[in-house]
Amino acid sequence: MTTYTPAPEVEALLMQIVRAHHPDIKTARFYVLFRDVPKFSKGKLVFASVKKFPPELTPSAGEHDFLLTVNEKAWREATPEHRAYVLDHEASHCQQSKVIESHPETGEAVRCEFNLTGHDVEDFASVIGRHGLQTEELENMAAACQQMPLPFPDSAARNDRYSTPEEQAILNGIEDWEEETVRQYTGLRRVK
Ligand SMILES: [Zn+2]
Repeated sequence: MTTYTPAPEVEALLMQIVRAHHPDIKTARFYVLFRDVPKFSKGKLVFASVKKFPPELTPSAGEHDFLLTVNEKAWREATPEHRAYVLDHEASHCQQSKVIESHPETGEAVRCEFNLTGHDVEDFASVIGRHGLQTEELENMAAACQQMPLPFPDSAARNDRYSTPEEQAILNGIEDWEEETVRQYTGLRRVK
């Protein structure tokens, strides 16, 4: 059985990355947990995954917008650069869909609705090798390969969230649903 534990160090780094690169989701409330049992998708180890926060968890965990789970072993073994890359990737799946309430004076969004979005590109290196950059998304991806690496911000641990046995049970019960939901949300956009 999979056990989930609080991951305050992941959350701290995630918050820094969101503030630096994802201003549209800065009001989003993330619930961040380590998982101990490795999960595989299409034969590959899942380092981290994000989904809409399951409402069943609200009574024990409080209201949140997203649930981010991270493979603890992979996290411990990863370099700081790779951790930042993974969290920037997961944050990129999260986007603001609607502003519910704005600050009366500054106009800044204070309460929003959020949803999940898919990857810019899903393709095979061998196919790109044979056919070149056939889509705008692939051209953008090739251009982005020139970019500077993301600087690694210091991570300050926060330890104000705990996962209860009740949460564990719910999380284990929704695993299949979780896989299906993530696939549903992230598999929709296809390269033309
Ligand atoms: Zn992804």
